[in-house]
Amino acid sequence: MIRAGRDIRESFLKFFEGKGHTRVSSSSLIPKDDPTLLFTNSGMVQFKNAFLGLEDRGYTRATSCQKSVRAGGKHNDLENVGFTARHHTFFEMLGNFSFGDYFKREAIAWAWEYLTDVMKLPKERLWATVYQDDDEAYRIWHDEMQVPAERIVRLGEKSNFWMMGETGPCGPCSEIIYDQGEGTGCGSPDCHIECGCDRYLEVWNLVFTQFDRDEAGKLTPLPKPNIDTGMGLERLAAVVQGVKSNYDTDLFTPLIAAITQAANKPYGKNEEDDVSIRVIADHSRSVTFLIGDGILPSNEGRGYVLRRILRRAARHGKLLGLNRPFLHEMTEVVIEEMKDAYPDLLDKKSYITKVILNEEQRFMETLDAGLKILQEEVARLKEAGKTVIPGDIVFRLYDTFGFPTDLTADIVRKDGLTLDEEGFQRAMEIQREKARESWKGSGEEAVSALYQRLPGQGVTTLFVGYEGVCEAKSQV
Ligand code: ATP
Ligand code: MG
Ligand code: MG
Ligand code: MG
Repeated sequence: MIRAGRDIRESFLKFFEGKGHTRVSSSSLIPKDDPTLLFTNSGMVQFKNAFLGLEDRGYTRATSCQKSVRAGGKHNDLENVGFTARHHTFFEMLGNFSFGDYFKREAIAWAWEYLTDVMKLPKERLWATVYQDDDEAYRIWHDEMQVPAERIVRLGEKSNFWMMGETGPCGPCSEIIYDQGEGTGCGSPDCHIECGCDRYLEVWNLVFTQFDRDEAGKLTPLPKPNIDTGMGLERLAAVVQGVKSNYDTDLFTPLIAAITQAANKPYGKNEEDDVSIRVIADHSRSVTFLIGDGILPSNEGRGYVLRRILRRAARHGKLLGLNRPFLHEMTEVVIEEMKDAYPDLLDKKSYITKVILNEEQRFMETLDAGLKILQEEVARLKEAGKTVIPGDIVFRLYDTFGFPTDLTADIVRKDGLTLDEEGFQRAMEIQREKARESWKGSGEEAVSALYQRLPGQGVTTLFVGYEGVCEAKSQV
């Protein structure tokens, strides 16, 4: 029986090779020739032009295991990490693709065959969702796969209709859900398939790209419809291994073990510690892979997202009592687990380790002082019965202590506090104005003085525009 994460990965690719698919390597986390996308966030990204008919790749069926990051842009799971059992910033997406070749029938039949026949998942735990108008998909699930009507759910546009953009190729999708059983997830007796908790776990999404949408929203059938599917390896491993959380699969246990050992704290005994342990386990993978793909911590764009992830992990290390740079030590464990699937990581090991250590050391210089200020502020607000951290404090933490705003939000979340985002933006605007003034006023000296301040401050720019577009705007 196939159980280990690495064997599942291989079995998926083999299965689809057996169905005439070409195995294609994962592309980089930096999307090639696509400035509209922050990171590669699904398997289809490298095939975009093949879907649009702009590129002939010499095959019409492909299968891949794609490195994916969802920590910015349209898909941003950063805030979920640590708190849900199923979301990561970095994960591997298994997929099969048809460029005008096979369509719905095969896509559904093969997904079903793979899950029930190869992975041997119990059929009675599997549900299918279909788009509300997609009678064809409903019929295939019901009549051909013999999924009973009570486990096929018709859902609306939000969850079951996929669009590449406002116009262009789009179509309905069908998700395969694994019911982890009563008492899992939120545990409520009223829990249902759209609850959003981890009980009804979305394992696989099959997208049927069959329309072209024009500006007026009119859908015209494509002459050659496409198939684009994506399944998280970690989620599949969780259900195959019979565990309720991705973090309990063999893909994560060596990481969790290394963290608990370094911090000398157990996993599974205290919820707050567990959140920190999961965050570090997750983030150590994303920072290793992001740096491996050529991103460096910086003040804008992709580099700033990397910096945010890294600093968030560093702060959770501190929560666990790790008062030294430790994240760089995790690279070794990540690479040990991943080297067979991504051998290029081996050559980059010492480089990645150095980059992480450098950033950790840098942040250590300001982390304690920033935390102290924040703790005082939280105490003050609590006493006054207030719940919002003022914008100028958020700005000061950001500007002087290198606290990305989401880090500050993460820190105060357990106290039920939120940030005054508008006040923060105003403080930022004032700083920008000041910087402009000094550009105008005193010429080059001011400019060079400004730039000299940059390295010492850690973060002085803000990445604006997470909506997919990699719009890195300098704020100074
Ligand atoms: P969810 O509703 O659970 O957030 P999704 O609908 O956003 O998932 P898709 O965009 O359909 O996910 O991606 C295809 C598959 O990739 C999902 O069915 C899931 O198995 C996996 N996946 C998506 N996001 C993540 C994540 N952040 N971490 C791990 N796996 C993920
Ligand atoms: Mg999601
Ligand atoms: Mg979903
Ligand atoms: Mg989905």
